[in-house]
Amino acid sequence: MKSRNEILFERAREHIPAGVNSPVRAFRAVGGTPPFLERASGAYLWDADGKRYIDYVGSWGPMVLGHAHPQVVEAVQAAASKALSFGAPTEAEIELAEAICRLLPSIEMVRLVSSGTEATMTAIRLARGHTGRSLIVKFEGCYHGHADSLLVKAGSGALTFGNPSSAGVPPETAAHTLVLDFNNIEQIEKIFAARGADIAGVIVEPVAGNMNLVLPKPGFLESLQKNCSRHGAVLIFDEVMTGFRVALGGAQARYGIRPDLTTLGKVIGGGLPVGAFGGRREIMEKIAPLGPVYQAGTLSGNPVAVAAGLATLKLVQEKDFQSKIEKTTQLLVDGLVAEAQKAKVVFSAQSVGSMFGLYFRASPPASFAEVMQCDKDRFNKFFHQMLMRGVYLAPSAYEAGFVSAAHGAAEIDATLAAAREAFRSL
Ligand SMILES: *Cc1c(COP(=O)(O)O)cnc(C)c1O
Repeated sequence: MKSRNEILFERAREHIPAGVNSPVRAFRAVGGTPPFLERASGAYLWDADGKRYIDYVGSWGPMVLGHAHPQVVEAVQAAASKALSFGAPTEAEIELAEAICRLLPSIEMVRLVSSGTEATMTAIRLARGHTGRSLIVKFEGCYHGHADSLLVKAGSGALTFGNPSSAGVPPETAAHTLVLDFNNIEQIEKIFAARGADIAGVIVEPVAGNMNLVLPKPGFLESLQKNCSRHGAVLIFDEVMTGFRVALGGAQARYGIRPDLTTLGKVIGGGLPVGAFGGRREIMEKIAPLGPVYQAGTLSGNPVAVAAGLATLKLVQEKDFQSKIEKTTQLLVDGLVAEAQKAKVVFSAQSVGSMFGLYFRASPPASFAEVMQCDKDRFNKFFHQMLMRGVYLAPSAYEAGFVSAAHGAAEIDATLAAAREAFRSL
């Protein structure tokens, strides 16, 4: 007999490509039927068959408080009962902007949008408009949303012009994007020496979370800052994932770097669609209607979404919030490494803040090439073994994991008990 998840998956595929509204949800990488989710609370999810899971995806990052936090739900309900959308300014938007500028001091002015993709797309346009240059530097394995100029990865040589990594991106667009290796300082020095006067900006995930989890090597982020400032290029930290996760002030606080522009998303919407880009006043004043760089949005600063974001940001600032969630995440990672060792499985793991990476490889990777050396088939088996035991990991070996403040000792213990059996079965 078919499960309700299977019935829904079949029905979904009739009118939705692959049955999903964002590709990774389709489970193509790991195979099988994705659970169709019905509700969530704290650290737990329930699917259409009534099965319960401990959640380590957290809607891909936003749910840092855990699901359906009562204070966030209450704020959303209160806002919704007043208005769903105005398309006109509100006081709550000022409060959110003030909170962002206070928590990330490199941001002097900020504009709210509705997704991370919108934020990065506009930050790139702003870097180009501000400098009058076209070239953008990005790093292989870093994801910055799905705007044309950012859907580019390296071809064969790292310093060659980018090739589109999606059909439908004109080669002429991709040609303005240079792709380098994450953590390779030598390449940065070389490209700035050769093309410094043409580079509008560098965009980077300061902690890479879209090729599993890769930490910046000492000196990597510093070299970006040094070269950008020397050559008049705009340094963009894409903190859509790392913001309020890696530290309260994001990766820029943790690593002590002051980028020119920052993009945010995920946590700042608390589960509703909010993104933001902001940074140096001089650059932000180039945005319409103050300046010549155009950007707009019908639902930007939506009152219900802003209410969710404000309620979330209020809670993440509470005393010990960051240190507690960081400790829980470390506990999870240490426990998983210990279980893998007992089962003699080649495995490593690490965490930063409330983000973690799992690698079927002897040590954590430092580059895209090293991420590719992880044993993907083993991950896929491990993933299904964990899912079966009620632990919901990201359905791909190339995603970071997320812990929420609702995860406690009970959830970690249950996860490690599942992992013990899962590792033994490999
Ligand atoms: C998720 C993500 C984005 C895109 O955000 P969306 O809201 O999915 O458009 C951009 N950059 C990074 C680093 C992300 O993790």
